Amino acid sequence: MKESYSINRCPVCGHSSFKHFLNVPDWLVSKEIFELQQCEQCQFVFTANAPLEKDAGPYYNSEEYVEHSDTSSGLIYSVYHVARRAMLHYKYMKIKRLHVGKKLLDVGSGSGYFMNFMKKKGYDVTGVEISEKAIALCKKNFGIKAHSPSEFLEEKLDTDYDIISLWHVFEHVYSYDAYFELFSKSLNNNGYLILALPNCDSQDARMNKSYWGAYDTPRHIWHFTSKTIELFAMGRGFKMIKKHRMPLDPFFNVMVSDSYKDKFTFLPLTLLKGLYSYIISLLNIEKSSSIIYIFQKNT
Ligand SMILES: [Zn+2]
Repeated sequence: MKESYSINRCPVCGHSSFKHFLNVPDWLVSKEIFELQQCEQCQFVFTANAPLEKDAGPYYNSEEYVEHSDTSSGLIYSVYHVARRAMLHYKYMKIKRLHVGKKLLDVGSGSGYFMNFMKKKGYDVTGVEISEKAIALCKKNFGIKAHSPSEFLEEKLDTDYDIISLWHVFEHVYSYDAYFELFSKSLNNNGYLILALPNCDSQDARMNKSYWGAYDTPRHIWHFTSKTIELFAMGRGFKMIKKHRMPLDPFFNVMVSDSYKDKFTFLPLTLLKGLYSYIISLLNIEKSSSIIYIFQKNT
């Protein structure tokens, strides 16, 4: 039996008693079952038996793991690629409205689509990426060089960024404290830290339970809600400034969740469920499928 990544203290509040929350299969790659646990004090949810970081590589080996690949096959993934363009513009508009400088660090930059979009808008972009395949694609497609996480953690990159962004990345990060320390060091005092995260308190998470696409165990170790990420960041010297919805995520998550349930997916019904989840998120952002959180340092 392989050793798993053990969590003895809650990363959010430091408490050490946890209760069972949900068993979630790794639908995408291994089909192994993973257990989510919840902190009894602050209600933070995490994957209790994720692989050690050194053993995590094989769990990312899927052509369907679109975050790191460039293939476009199947309905869900065609939609994903079209939606990506709309989301790039949406992210740009949210950043533009912060009225801050244009030096941007994108952590978990993947194949570089966001960096390339921002570069064209006049931003000075730097990327950090763990996948060598993604680094190579980024270089080949956009001529942008991304750095390895160790270069970032060993403080070899600049330390005067106006924006540090992580789009659906932080839920994968093992050494969360080292990263937060570096965010603090690398961000200007008037700069912004942007974290986009799935929300396990969302309408579609509650509706789909273990089928919810954004649990994505064991690749997602941390399952934040608006409350737990605010507490987590507060404990590390950051205050939450703003929250935004990610309007396409309810549709994408519901499509992924439905694809895990049946061999045959009836698309109009899936889209209706996505629409329902989206309408709930309009009424209450804390029920959004994913949320973009904007933080600043406490100075
Ligand atoms: Zn806790």
